[in-house]
Amino acid sequence: MSAVAQVIDVNAGAEVEQELTDGFHLVIDALKLNDIDTIYGVPGIPITDLGRMAQAEGIRVISFRHEQNAGNAAAIAGFLTKKPGVCLTVSAPGFLNGLTALANATTNCFPMILISGSSEREIVDLQQGDYEEMDQLAIAKPLCKAAFRVLHAEDIGIGVARAIRAAVSGRPGGVYLDLPAKLLGQALDAAKGEKSLVKVIDAAPAQLPSPEAVKRALDVLKGAKRPLIILGKGAAYAQADETIRDFIETTGIPFLPMSMAKGLLPDTHPQSAGAARSTVLKDADVVLLVGARLNWLLSHGKGKTWGDAPKKFIQVDIEPKEMDSNVEIAAPLVGDIGSVVAALNNGIKSGWQAPPSEWIDAINARKEVNISKMSQRLLKNSTPMDFHSALGALKQVIKERPDAILVNEGANTLDLARGVIDMYQPRKRLDVGTWGVMGIGMGFAVGAAVETGKPVLAVEGDSAFGFSGMEVETICRYNLPVTIVIFNNNGIYRGTDTDPTGRDPGTTVFVPDSRYDKMMEAFGGVGYHVTTPDELKKAVDAGMDSGKPTLINAVIDPAAGSESGNIGSLNPQSVVKKK
Ligand code: ADP
Ligand code: MG
Repeated sequence: MSAVAQVIDVNAGAEVEQELTDGFHLVIDALKLNDIDTIYGVPGIPITDLGRMAQAEGIRVISFRHEQNAGNAAAIAGFLTKKPGVCLTVSAPGFLNGLTALANATTNCFPMILISGSSEREIVDLQQGDYEEMDQLAIAKPLCKAAFRVLHAEDIGIGVARAIRAAVSGRPGGVYLDLPAKLLGQALDAAKGEKSLVKVIDAAPAQLPSPEAVKRALDVLKGAKRPLIILGKGAAYAQADETIRDFIETTGIPFLPMSMAKGLLPDTHPQSAGAARSTVLKDADVVLLVGARLNWLLSHGKGKTWGDAPKKFIQVDIEPKEMDSNVEIAAPLVGDIGSVVAALNNGIKSGWQAPPSEWIDAINARKEVNISKMSQRLLKNSTPMDFHSALGALKQVIKERPDAILVNEGANTLDLARGVIDMYQPRKRLDVGTWGVMGIGMGFAVGAAVETGKPVLAVEGDSAFGFSGMEVETICRYNLPVTIVIFNNNGIYRGTDTDPTGRDPGTTVFVPDSRYDKMMEAFGGVGYHVTTPDELKKAVDAGMDSGKPTLINAVIDPAAGSESGNIGSLNPQSVVKKK
């Protein structure tokens, strides 16, 4: 939209009308032209009016209380939609707050664009001390996939186009776009402005694997006695759900989902090896990785977890550099997952032999033992609740509401929920991802609710919740269908630590018996305080049925958690003996 301005035509000496646009409008027009319909952010100098105008022009603008949470919402929007999620922040401190989310998005391969206002180049570059002075472009560069700055209004179209393409093409990731304050007010002839906009054609082009690579991979797979498919969040992101399901069901190969790939095929699928994880990782002889990296979450593809038997890896990934990152990849399949798995499907049309029944039987036997062990722990009706008895109730909730989105963070709350709560549909489990980072909770919950319109259940450790807890106000303000469960065990890992000197509370404990439910009530949402699995289930059902912002303070035994959940082994040990 442009403004009409009176401009004196000097040559003619008469007044003529010229239509003008400016930086503000060009940014908004460029985003709209590329189907970006939502902005997550925190208003302030110099982007307050940009948010206002974007809202007036029909873009949905969701204002948060802290940029990190806005950034996390944008990042998860990117994961859920394959379009870059946009986060808008003010300069220096707001930019830095958003940067954590941008770096996290990049690490997780989520497409996101962080747009930050910045101060005047002339002053920043001479380091003369501008308001919120910071060389933001230089700082963002090493922390994201690409970073751009636009200095002239006529370059906004190109700047936005480059940011979008960089975020979603190849391996997706975070992009930084720097918009100096002065740019936004720059005027430009409206027709010239409109012409300068760029519609990004085929932003994430298909990348087909070579026929040789497909043949090599199928030859390795056909030679397997104990094959395994590992699905990662790249497979969930690809939205090639049917193609992947086809391949798995036609081959009959057992599959193991990484955390955010759970539900791509239901966890209750007969071929799921989720309940026999240690066995399949140890005993498989050929492993096909689909959008999963052999990073710390898979013990780097070696060591005790993977056993002594020799293994061959086949890896499907859009990023060629991912191959051989940790161990030799016998058959690299570089391309987008949809195209690669379609090629594999095509390749097995001419014949495929199901994996040996000894392998399938061994997995099923192990699954049966583990599932029955687990179900006994889930049924315990202890007071106070432990993690398992509380999770038993939540497992049932998701079973009854398979299209709800589960957000999950914490230590024990995360590790145990991942194993206990079965997922039934793709892209329904959103969690701490590749870094295992705390603080994604409320940002992901808001982003998921806004993008999908589906009910969200956020299962949060009391510590994890603290990083983004103020966003309960945001959830209430936008009246989002988010139900939050806080597993309140009075602290980090456990609520039982003490200060040996007796002076202060222990370093890992919080105010005991806190009432997080009151936080939600403060902003007009609904709060519950529960102490049994039955009460918990009832409260969650009520929250999710009502669609109203709801927070449930679930009292968990302060002694129930273990140090750092499942990853306690990552803590360094002091060599000095305790006195
Ligand atoms: P997980 O943590 O679930 O194992 P990772 O984040 O480690 O998953 O791995 C995801 C992988 O998926 C990354 O290496 C990324 O390059 C890849 N990827 C993301 N999107 C696609 C896609 N559309 N096609 C192919 N590979 C993809
Ligand atoms: Mg805790």
